[in-house]
Amino acid sequence: MAKRAKTTHFGFETVGWDEKQKKVGAVFESVASKYDLMNNLMSLGVHHGWKRFAVEASQVRPGQLVLDLAGGTGDLTRLFSEKIGPSGLVVLADINAAMIEVGRNRLLDQGLINNIKFAQANAEALPFADNSFHCISMAFGLRNVTDKAAALRSMYRVCKPGGKLLVLEFSKPVLPGLNKVYDWYSFNLLPKLGQLCAGDASSYQYLVESIRLHPDQENLKAMIEDAGFEDCYYHNLSGGIVALHIAYKY
Ligand code: SAM
Repeated sequence: MAKRAKTTHFGFETVGWDEKQKKVGAVFESVASKYDLMNNLMSLGVHHGWKRFAVEASQVRPGQLVLDLAGGTGDLTRLFSEKIGPSGLVVLADINAAMIEVGRNRLLDQGLINNIKFAQANAEALPFADNSFHCISMAFGLRNVTDKAAALRSMYRVCKPGGKLLVLEFSKPVLPGLNKVYDWYSFNLLPKLGQLCAGDASSYQYLVESIRLHPDQENLKAMIEDAGFEDCYYHNLSGGIVALHIAYKY
């Protein structure tokens, strides 16, 4: 019998396991220059609050080493950079050169480059030594990764014992009645907004679909613990539209 090729999801589309990374790459290549504007429009600026909450919850201290994985245009990197001060270091790592370039230029313009380094890297196989970072964050990135288990294992490997993982991601709304409004907004308005502001409806259609297929709060918690992290818990933000998972490596 012929062996069936391994598949995965790219939004609601079923694609070959090896195809997804390229397709995700094309999405972020296409939206990079409009990414920040679109984030502000789509969430009416609320995403800044989610990100501030995550960085506050990290409790990072001056002098620490932080990995902002899938760091994109650098929102979390900027906040971490302020917290760890000149003796610390934040590495913004992302697979996509276009996103890193936008982020790097933005952080440079803000005069915030002294304690920041950039790395083009795939979360599934991080090019850092074991036990390197006090804190690892991944905001709105895990959803896009093909092999999420491998990425979480890779994060576990490079996290220092005593270190902390933060995964900020879209999740499953828990407020009664929110699902209906959220679905209407997501499927009707978002792709139109994407077309209008970024000239790209399909990337925002992917965004909406990928959010629906991402593991919910409890399933993501189980995946994080399967990778080796312990004591995982989460905060629901904006009624569970987003969740912040926090876990430790001992
Ligand atoms: N963290 C930023 C934020 O919250 O604004 C950017 C999030 S953006 C929605 C997702 C990012 O994940 C993109 O910059 C994309 O290039 C990156 N990404 C996707 N797959 C990745 C992978 N396998 N490894 C590292 N980064 C990845």
